Amino acid sequence: MYIVQIASECAPVIKAGGLGDVVYGLSRELEGRGNTVELVLPMYDCMRYDHIWGLHDAYLNLWVPWYGGAVHCSVYCGWVHGRVCFFIQPHSQDNFFNRGCYYGCDDDNMRFAFFSKAALELLLRSNKKPDIIHCHDWQTGLIPVMLYEIYKYHGMEYQRVCYTIHNFKHQGMGGVETLQATGLNQASYYFQYNKLRDNFNPFALNFMKGGIIYSNAVTTVSPHHAVEAQTSEFGCGLGYTLHLQKDKFMGVLNGIDYDFWNPEIDCYIPHNYHWDDFEQKAYNKKALREKLMLGHGDKPMVAYIGRLDNQKGVHLVHHAMYYALSKGSQFVLLGSATEPAINAHFQHEKQFLNSNPDVHLELGFNEELSHLIYAGADMIVVPSNYEPCGLTQMIGLKYGTVPIVRGVGGLVNTVFDRDYDQNLPPEKRNGYVFYQMDNQALESAMGRAIDLWYQQPEQFQKLATQGMQYDYSWNIPGAQYLEIYDWIRHKW
Ligand code: ADP
Repeated sequence: MYIVQIASECAPVIKAGGLGDVVYGLSRELEGRGNTVELVLPMYDCMRYDHIWGLHDAYLNLWVPWYGGAVHCSVYCGWVHGRVCFFIQPHSQDNFFNRGCYYGCDDDNMRFAFFSKAALELLLRSNKKPDIIHCHDWQTGLIPVMLYEIYKYHGMEYQRVCYTIHNFKHQGMGGVETLQATGLNQASYYFQYNKLRDNFNPFALNFMKGGIIYSNAVTTVSPHHAVEAQTSEFGCGLGYTLHLQKDKFMGVLNGIDYDFWNPEIDCYIPHNYHWDDFEQKAYNKKALREKLMLGHGDKPMVAYIGRLDNQKGVHLVHHAMYYALSKGSQFVLLGSATEPAINAHFQHEKQFLNSNPDVHLELGFNEELSHLIYAGADMIVVPSNYEPCGLTQMIGLKYGTVPIVRGVGGLVNTVFDRDYDQNLPPEKRNGYVFYQMDNQALESAMGRAIDLWYQQPEQFQKLATQGMQYDYSWNIPGAQYLEIYDWIRHKW
């Protein structure tokens, strides 16, 4: 099969969070199974060019229709750790992708509407005829809309779209100007509730809703979240739309790329290890302590890695830090906040705790350090408010770092409580789960984990190595996506 993935991220060259990991890992798996996979991405000024090999111009004269005129774009091609990627660089005064950031601009909806249009124009002009176009998140929600309303009539009638939603919170809103810009004429046609009109804001078009309605298959990133999105506030207003489209909507659990996230071969950690030589993990803990200038001693280490925002349960992250210290643990945090108030709060905490040898806060994004923390820490806490899939708990498991998670979304599908899980025998359990959003709930799970570390170290190690033996690779999800692709190719 010939598959083109269109997304706003692809790790490690463009990574703001899990989306980048998924786009890369899934592409690699699909290619490993004998398919041809190409990726189309924006050419951001701030992406990690050091992860692109052989970057060369592919199409220097791509003219993308925009507002009745056309914007000149150059398209570059290069390999990102073996994946063929096309990067679109527009030449216009808008400087859509030269902003020193991936997201967070006032005109994000226009930036990614343009990217979507340009990606389709690239496929059309270069005469690429993929069997499947796989789009991701709101940034590419307009692709299936334009494919079926415009490009189908220009020779792209056989392309089928799989649309994966990684986060319902950000849906992409636009007004009539988005339609004018992209050539989706007849505003009244698109401003209908069975098309793009937002379910709650009658003056807005919702890109993600368009993606859901026009795609041949829609997925989200875990089976549990697929149910939550239809039945609770986690669908962020799209629950009813998903319910109406339920025959083509399903959850496929994300995988992680074990060529990149694997303590046996990880080149960012000083001591590689496997579940049957688990003692080696202790040397990584020592290296991490040295790097972060933490005290040595017989104490467990709890980590948090992730964005610092309300989705991730920041108030519980904050409480986890002080609770870990009160229980004789060390705590390491690696996180970045986009909201100024949250950023200021953690900056303040960092100053306040600066001289404490048992805690380190690293504020910012640091891929290399994240690997050492996964390898060095004993536990990783994921107290999310909601979590469509969550990768940090799965990476933690692979590194023998016991996850302590809140039972929502994909965390329910991947972490099974050592003491209370009713569905699995003890030798299959792999972490700790709590359910409420309050401090006591978090403490009940963290307390059990830290007590086990102190009181029954051999049992703690057993739990950690049980987690390392789970297979959360792309193997199963890769096969599931191929089944979905096959289904939509033959059904439509
Ligand atoms: P998200 O909701 O952000 O997509 P996920 O758990 O799905 O959360 O994926 C997070 C990914 O981003 C993981 O690979 C994690 O290691 C990485 N990550 C998150 N924050 C940071 C950071 N500050 N530095 C380095 N890596 C990070």
